[in-house]
Amino acid sequence: MQNIQIPNRLNLLMSLSNLTLSIAAIVVGDKHPDYFIPCLILFAFLHLNNYALLHEATHSNLQSYKRWNYVLGVLSGFMFPTSFSIATLTHTKHHCCNRTDHEMFDYYYPNDSLFYKFGQWYSVLLGGFWPVAVFGNIIIFFYPSFPKSKFIQKVRSGQRMLEDMNSKDVIRIRLEILLIFGFWTLVVYVFNLSIATLIYFYVAAGFNWSTRQYITHAFSKRDVWEGAINLKTNLLHEKILLNGNWDLEHHLHPELPWTYLKKSAENKKTDTTYFKQYLKMWTGPKKNFESSPKPISLKEYFNGYKRENHST
Ligand SMILES: [Zn+2]
Repeated sequence: MQNIQIPNRLNLLMSLSNLTLSIAAIVVGDKHPDYFIPCLILFAFLHLNNYALLHEATHSNLQSYKRWNYVLGVLSGFMFPTSFSIATLTHTKHHCCNRTDHEMFDYYYPNDSLFYKFGQWYSVLLGGFWPVAVFGNIIIFFYPSFPKSKFIQKVRSGQRMLEDMNSKDVIRIRLEILLIFGFWTLVVYVFNLSIATLIYFYVAAGFNWSTRQYITHAFSKRDVWEGAINLKTNLLHEKILLNGNWDLEHHLHPELPWTYLKKSAENKKTDTTYFKQYLKMWTGPKKNFESSPKPISLKEYFNGYKRENHST
């Protein structure tokens, strides 16, 4: 695909609108009990859209200018809430380790503990991934060597996630977390928000985000580049997700902004719908019959190593 252009203005408008509407939904829900539930649902879906914007920024696809991309990435990190640098490091690693043993949640080996595998799987479906992602920030803030600790090195899915974090990243991460803390202190103070309202809103948003986090990877081919699925869904849902349902296209072409993904998938077969795939996830992890691909390095990822075998 030639002449790829990031929709800078549209992305800026969406980022600012999402932030404003998300805060407005919390404030209106907090002050007007009659609107609490509609505002909570609205917030839970704005949260998905905010994550999609954050995701664009982690790939430097939110704004053409690096600094603006960073600023808007940090801003969308406020609402998740997560440090933008942590999101970028972990998400890039996800692309490098996709469908390897480090990211195999949907299958189990004969020697795996089924209690652990099923527990991990259903806790993600029931919303547990979001608090882990958020509290991970607090742990890194106080204990940056935690990813190298014996505890995390024993966890297959955690071993590689933050292995590329260096001392400069730690400084940036701490500053971003302090900014998040300052931002929320100000919002709570200015709007005199009840902490209980914030908890309700974030439980709903966290569930809505976590329960679908693995949907485009579950039961897909075990291949770093090709291990994702394009899922059909309605136009509104697609817009909220910024075409995140076309995830195979995204994994094959992570440099493509969201506006190109659907077009890129045009001539490819997609029989599975988003809803069908979501229901399938509730049937739980299955026995693994495929061998694990090797994780690729950051250099290989950014150079598109071996991707050409898959992208045609
Ligand atoms: Zn991505």
